[in-house]
Amino acid sequence: MRLFDSHCHLYDEAFDEDRAEVLARAEEAGLARLLVVGSDEATSLQALALAQAHESLFCAVGYHPHESRFMGGEIPRSLKEAVRDRNVVAIGEAGLDYYYDHSERSVQREVFARQIAWAVDVGLPLVVHVRDAFGDALALLESEGASRCGGVLHCFSGDAVQARRALDLGFYLSFAGPLTFAKNDALRDVAASVPLDRLLVETDAPYLSPHPRRGRRNEPALVVHTFRVLAEVKGMGEEELADRLWENGRALFRW
Ligand SMILES: [Zn+2]
Ligand SMILES: [Zn+2]
Repeated sequence: MRLFDSHCHLYDEAFDEDRAEVLARAEEAGLARLLVVGSDEATSLQALALAQAHESLFCAVGYHPHESRFMGGEIPRSLKEAVRDRNVVAIGEAGLDYYYDHSERSVQREVFARQIAWAVDVGLPLVVHVRDAFGDALALLESEGASRCGGVLHCFSGDAVQARRALDLGFYLSFAGPLTFAKNDALRDVAASVPLDRLLVETDAPYLSPHPRRGRRNEPALVVHTFRVLAEVKGMGEEELADRLWENGRALFRW
């Protein structure tokens, strides 16, 4: 069985002590592809270096909404050049986060819109982060023509109506550790309603460990916990679901 972690931050200092072991455990767990997602210029270039060094890793480059205040008016030249590398398969993570508000909302919207235009321009899908900002995020994706580049709403936490709007734009929905939390029946209902050809799973490691590892450092091998819950929710065998998710990753990121 081959699995794909559609979103992790392997460059994070949480992995500085044992990154090689983390990658070995991922391989043992059947993870044959991992998408390492940058959150600003420096981490995007770190993600690219990791992807260049490991056959199973690909990367996304871009600015997380938390960091958008540091981007300035333009996409950094180093990132514009990075997208020519075949290891870069997406733009992101980009989006809006009104839960933490680390960057001013107007700045978040401006930087997100600029990255949507960039993704359309270079023909790469978007990895989108949205927290407590679905109204504005979906409106921007719609008004800026994001259906032309497509992408994924990562660690999806919205409701069925928001899921529908994202699906109508041609986007995929990726589910992370919260899918396994006891209280999240509503999220599992949303996952059950997502068409099989638009689903992905992820860890968002080192954050958001799934049950039963909640509260400890997350790592890509633990994606199996979220994957198993998704198989239950969809009422499917694990082999069959793994195949479908694998094809989805390949279709979206064109590796
Ligand atoms: Zn995120
Ligand atoms: Zn992330």
